[in-house]
Amino acid sequence: MSRPSNFDASRRQTLQGIAAAFGGAGLLAANNQSLAQVSEKTNRGSAPIRIRKVRAITTAPQNIRLVVVKVETTEPGLYGLGCATFNQRPLAVVEAVNKYLDPFARNRDVDNIEDMWQNAYTSSYWRNGPVLNNALSGLDMALWDIKGKRAQMPVYQLLGGKCRFAVDCYAHAGGDDMKELEDSVREHMEQGFRHVRMQLGAYGSPHLSGAPDFRRAGFGQPQDQHMDSGPYLRMMPKIFKHMRATVGDEVQLLHDVHERIEPIEAIGLVKELEKYRPFFIEDPLAPEQNGYFKQLRQQTACPIAMGELFNNPHEWVNLISERLIDFIRVHLSQIGGLTPARKLAALSECFGVRTAWHGPGDVSPVGHACNAHLDLAIHNFGIQEGPKFSDAMREVFPGSPTIKNGYMYVNEAPGFGVDMDEKLAAKYPLPDHPGYWEPIRRRDGTAVRP
Ligand code: MG
Repeated sequence: MSRPSNFDASRRQTLQGIAAAFGGAGLLAANNQSLAQVSEKTNRGSAPIRIRKVRAITTAPQNIRLVVVKVETTEPGLYGLGCATFNQRPLAVVEAVNKYLDPFARNRDVDNIEDMWQNAYTSSYWRNGPVLNNALSGLDMALWDIKGKRAQMPVYQLLGGKCRFAVDCYAHAGGDDMKELEDSVREHMEQGFRHVRMQLGAYGSPHLSGAPDFRRAGFGQPQDQHMDSGPYLRMMPKIFKHMRATVGDEVQLLHDVHERIEPIEAIGLVKELEKYRPFFIEDPLAPEQNGYFKQLRQQTACPIAMGELFNNPHEWVNLISERLIDFIRVHLSQIGGLTPARKLAALSECFGVRTAWHGPGDVSPVGHACNAHLDLAIHNFGIQEGPKFSDAMREVFPGSPTIKNGYMYVNEAPGFGVDMDEKLAAKYPLPDHPGYWEPIRRRDGTAVRP
């Protein structure tokens, strides 16, 4: 059945808008031209478009191991990109994508994302681990990207449209002493951020702990870090007190405990920080200690954010339904992509829990765009950990989200609006180091959870 001619005219205008949104970059212009041709064909009720190939691409423009999945289709020029970045085990994800997901997904219809997700998820029988979830996320996000391109809409439109004009982000302030940290907080406030996370040195401020006994005793490896909780626990309340006295009450201050202390120490710390009105305290407990959130909640009204290490719905369902946390902050690719994340957002909304998706450096611009598209479309958005892209990263990933005045903006191109220059990506191979976390130890050498 043919469509009225004014539909074609309006579609042409949309496609011209897409090209304008990409700013005329050669790669994108060529892609958009073929996308325009694709749209002319695919919206006319032609045969289903099928997956031709699923492959993982690695790159490290910021010296961080990124894994992006590209889904190619039977329609020339139509493809999607998804983030499958697992910085500590990238090659395991590459194998999972190329050896297992590719043969699984070939020849399947690109349209049925939910069905694809459910079947890919159980196709290994054993499930819910970070390697397979990241691989699945790459496929899932790429299918959403394709659906947006077919619909000629940004993904946030497919999710219901905008709830806000842009995505409010928090920035990372850091320094090894009070003065350096205060300067860093002020610098981010001057850039327009209303929310600033403060870390004194590395997570848990290991530089406060001095020379460890385990090193003198020849225990562990020379590069192992040392962190005792005492100096950190004594210093954090002083940091918050100092910042409230110097940078004022207006700025929202955040802090990430990064699970590096014992549960009872975390309860004591969060209680002590409550009077300085943190926007939230992040990951006070390790996922293995989820049972402690009840005790924490009973003793303080300090907002709690949790979940960047979560893989499995059983890790978050009770925390949300029992109203034990205030912000859910999973890593979208770690839980399997946009499909499970939008359900998690809806579950959270029912219980008054807001979102704060994990947005560190080890997420590709495609993944950050996915965070932002979901942030734009959900009512219970809380805050977003904002990305910082180098020039090299933006060259490899044209169309990456931008940050202005503390807000993240996506472009209005169809799908996630982010492309990848594969030739340029190949110029940034993965670093030689395999990517694992260096051990952290207490004074006597006991391993600390990172
Ligand atoms: Mg964190």
